[in-house]
Amino acid sequence: MTAALDRLRGLGEPFMEELSRAQWLVGAGYTSDIDLRGIYAAHADALSDESLAAALEAFRDAAPGSEEHRSARALLDWQIEARAARATAQLEERELAWEATATVRLDDGRAIPYQRAHIEISNATDRAERLKMDAARGAVVARELAPLRRERFAREREVVDALDVAPSYIDAIETISALPLRALGEQCARFLRDTEAMSRELLSTILKRQLAIDPADAARSDALALARAPEFDAAFPAADLQPAVARQLGEMGLAPDANGRIVYDTAEREGKRARAFCAPVRIPEEVHLVLRPHGGASDWTTLLHEAGHALHFANVRPELPFEHRWLGDNSVTEGYAMLFDHRMQDKGWLRRYTGLAGAELSRFLRRAGFEELRFLRRYCAKLLYELDLHGGAVSESDVPALYAERLTAATGFRYSPDDAYADVDPRFYAGRYLQAWQLQSILAGTLTESFDEDWWRNPRSGPWLRDNLFAEGQRETAGELASRVAGRPLDFAPLITAIERLVEG
Ligand SMILES: [Zn+2]
Repeated sequence: MTAALDRLRGLGEPFMEELSRAQWLVGAGYTSDIDLRGIYAAHADALSDESLAAALEAFRDAAPGSEEHRSARALLDWQIEARAARATAQLEERELAWEATATVRLDDGRAIPYQRAHIEISNATDRAERLKMDAARGAVVARELAPLRRERFAREREVVDALDVAPSYIDAIETISALPLRALGEQCARFLRDTEAMSRELLSTILKRQLAIDPADAARSDALALARAPEFDAAFPAADLQPAVARQLGEMGLAPDANGRIVYDTAEREGKRARAFCAPVRIPEEVHLVLRPHGGASDWTTLLHEAGHALHFANVRPELPFEHRWLGDNSVTEGYAMLFDHRMQDKGWLRRYTGLAGAELSRFLRRAGFEELRFLRRYCAKLLYELDLHGGAVSESDVPALYAERLTAATGFRYSPDDAYADVDPRFYAGRYLQAWQLQSILAGTLTESFDEDWWRNPRSGPWLRDNLFAEGQRETAGELASRVAGRPLDFAPLITAIERLVEG
C-alpha cells in the first residue's frame, strides 16, 4: 500500500503545482488565459483510472484511525475532486467566459457589465434604482448562468456516484471529505433558532435607522448596500493596509513574508484581479499573495484573510507528505484565514492598527456584529439548502422557490429564486466556511487564555501558532484540531457570545 500511496504523491504534487502556478499567473494578470485542458493532458497519469483505483483500494484497506487511512482519505478526496473538475472543465471555461462578457440590461436601455453589477448595486444610494438593477441581474443569471451551473452540479454528483463508496452523494462526501455535513446541518438549524430573536431585533433597528425602510420590504440588494457602509472608508486607507498588517504580524513574532517564502505582489497590472488572493505555488517554498489595495474595510478584511492562508502554507513543515501539505480539510486553512480577518471585529486591534476611535469605533463594531450574524445565518441557510439541493428529495422544479424561502427566512432580506444555482458553493464549501468560523472563534479563545486579550501583539503567540498549528498543514481535520488545541468540539456557542458582545457595544 505504501508504494501505491507514494506513486500518487509523486504524480500529485507536480500536477497541483502546475495548476496552482497557472491560476496564479492568470489572477495576477501575467497571462490572460489558462490552458486547463493542456494541464490535465500533461498530467493524465495523475488522474488516470489506475490512480483512482489505487486511492480507492488504499482507502478501503487501511485501518480506520491509522495514519495510512488518513493519507488515503486525503488522496482519494483529491482524486475525486480533480476528476470532477476535469469532467466539468469545459463547463467551467464557459462559465468564466460568460462572467467576463455577460451584460445586465436595464429597461431604460442602459447596460452594465455583469462583473460590475455587484459593485454598482452596493453603491446605488437610490433604492428604486438598486432594486431595478438587481432584478435585471437576476433575470440574466436565471436565463444564462443557472443552466450551466445546474449541469455542472449534476456532473459532479455523477462522478462521485459512479464510485459507489456510499449509499448517497451526501454520505460519500461525509465519508471521503471528512466533512460531517448532517451534524453540521443540525447545528446550523439550531443556530438559526437560537439567534432568531436577536436577528429580527437588530434588523428592524438597523433598517429603520440606516435605510429608512420597513423590515418587511427589505431585499437582498438592500443588504449589499448596508454592508457597503462607505462612512468608514476613511479609517481604512489603501496606503496603510499592507504596512499595518506587516506591523501586526511582526509584533506577534511572525515574519510577514515567512523569510522570503511569501511574495507580496502589490503592483498595478492590467488584467490583475481586483480582489486579493493567495496562490501557494510550492508548499511551503513559494506562496504568492496578490493584491491591489484600493482601501475600505472590506479590502482590509480580505488582505488579513489571505495573509492567514499565506502564513499557513508558507510555514507547513516541508517534510510532511504531499497530501498533508496540499490536501485535507480546507476548514483548517479557512479557519486560520478567518482568525486573522476577524481582527476587523476586535476593538483593541482596530484601535491600534487603524484610524478608528471613540464613538465611530463603537458604531463600527455594532455594525460588524450585525454583519457577522447576517453572514452566519446566510451560510447556515445555504448549507441547509444545499443539503436539500443535493439530497435528491426535492424535485428540480421546486428548487428555486426553496432557495428563496430558506435564505429569506434566515437573513430577513428577500432573496430571489433566480440565484438558486448561482449562489451554490461546489462540493459543500459553505460547510468548510462554517467549520472555519467555529474553529477561529475557538482558537481566538485559546489564544486569549494563553496570551491575553491582545494576543495578536504578543511576540510569543505567532511562534506558537506557527509551530503548533501552521506547521501541521491539514493533516488533522478542523474538528480534531479544536479538540487537540482547546479540548472541545466545534460549535457555534462562542460565536454567539462574540456577536452579543459586539452588538451590545
Ligand atoms: Zn479563504
